[in-house]
Amino acid sequence: MDIAGQDINSSAHMRIGIDDTDSPAGMCTTYLGAVLADRLSDSGMTVCETFLIRLNPNVIYKTRGNAAICLDVIGDANTAFCMACDIVEELADFSCEDTNPGVVVSEDALPPAFYQKAVSDFCEISEAIALLEESDALFRGYKNGRGLIGAVAAVSSFLEDKTSEILTYRRPECLGSPRIVDRKSLFLAEQETYPHTWDTVDRRNDIVVCVPHTPDPVLYGIRGVSGEWVLRARMMVVSEDPEREHIFTTNQGTDAHMVAGSPGALEPGRSYFVRGRVSTAPVTRNGGHVSFLLSDTRSSVRCMAYEPTKGFRDIIRLLCPGDEVVVAGSFKGGSINLEKIGVISIVSRTERKAPLCVSCGRRMTSAGKGQGYKCRTCGAREQEPDLVCITRELKPGWYEVPPSARRHLAKPLCRGNPDLEKYGTG
Ligand code: ATP
Repeated sequence: MDIAGQDINSSAHMRIGIDDTDSPAGMCTTYLGAVLADRLSDSGMTVCETFLIRLNPNVIYKTRGNAAICLDVIGDANTAFCMACDIVEELADFSCEDTNPGVVVSEDALPPAFYQKAVSDFCEISEAIALLEESDALFRGYKNGRGLIGAVAAVSSFLEDKTSEILTYRRPECLGSPRIVDRKSLFLAEQETYPHTWDTVDRRNDIVVCVPHTPDPVLYGIRGVSGEWVLRARMMVVSEDPEREHIFTTNQGTDAHMVAGSPGALEPGRSYFVRGRVSTAPVTRNGGHVSFLLSDTRSSVRCMAYEPTKGFRDIIRLLCPGDEVVVAGSFKGGSINLEKIGVISIVSRTERKAPLCVSCGRRMTSAGKGQGYKCRTCGAREQEPDLVCITRELKPGWYEVPPSARRHLAKPLCRGNPDLEKYGTG
């Protein structure tokens, strides 16, 4: 209390956004968010919810997964802003030229349209600053201030669909050494909690997915439908002692980056659901990458299933010209990089075969070029071949890349098929 009996520190609901604190050499914005959440709580503020917000995965400035963080807090905004800036100055990797942190504290809601754009398209630093200047938000952009884009996007995020992730972080003395996480315990955690958690491991390809290989403080992260489920899986994991852990609410696994598109109207760096017909047979090229053309009545676009998508390519190889599909993926370098595919309908396929002889039931053979067919047993003749139906191994339905190749934002099919009506491609 001050002398007039007024609270020096006001208590208000606010959102704190932070981005661009890490570099390829270390740090992770989520770690900074977890430490800040703990410090704000220790100082007497209430941290209501912590968000890990993934943004457009095709942004070239990203270090790894284009993540920003947002903390929903009750407390004094000026104090929280100072604490957020202090922690950025203490932990961000300023030595990296491409690390340009941004900090935003806003008591007012910022327009969700900015988040929508940042998750599915590209934004300019000036747009973020203009929006901040129109509001009463406290903000600071370090160096070129690019991190303000992610910080504003995180604060303005409105999640229609959400999931959870528990992230555990390494003790400082462990940084740089191989992560010690018991592989068996991860497979067991997945077995016991899937489909309420996902992408801890890739069972089919026998790969651990949730332990990074990058020099950042994350030990492992478990994704799932709720805080309760990710915690349940986490309790089963045997590992080196983490320094701390934190449960984030996220837009991961929600397809938040996707918009509807058509083959002739795709912009580089955006991610689309596109409906059309397969117009060329899939081909496998050097490196094992599989491609085919998808067309509507006017245009075509190449679709790619790259080698890391492993068994997903076997599904793509089963496609035939004429099949109707909806593809999902980012448009990059003139191709859609497939994240999943919905097979709507398949064409029936026939092959020409020499006809069966009606008298002796044996298959005839060619009687020479343009001469039709002849039965070698009884001499009967037939002009036209039989058209025999080939059984298609591909069934209508949705197919996805394996967990080891999945993008953070891609909705796994264990959460349900995409709602194509919502994207206007239904
Ligand atoms: P990590 O996931 O490990 O925290 P990162 O992959 O999130 O790292 P950053 O270091 O945060 O990468 O860099 C991403 C940069 O791109 C940030 O400055 C962020 O503000 C900016 N950014 C994010 N989304 C967009 C977008 N849609 N348009 C333009 N810039 C963006």
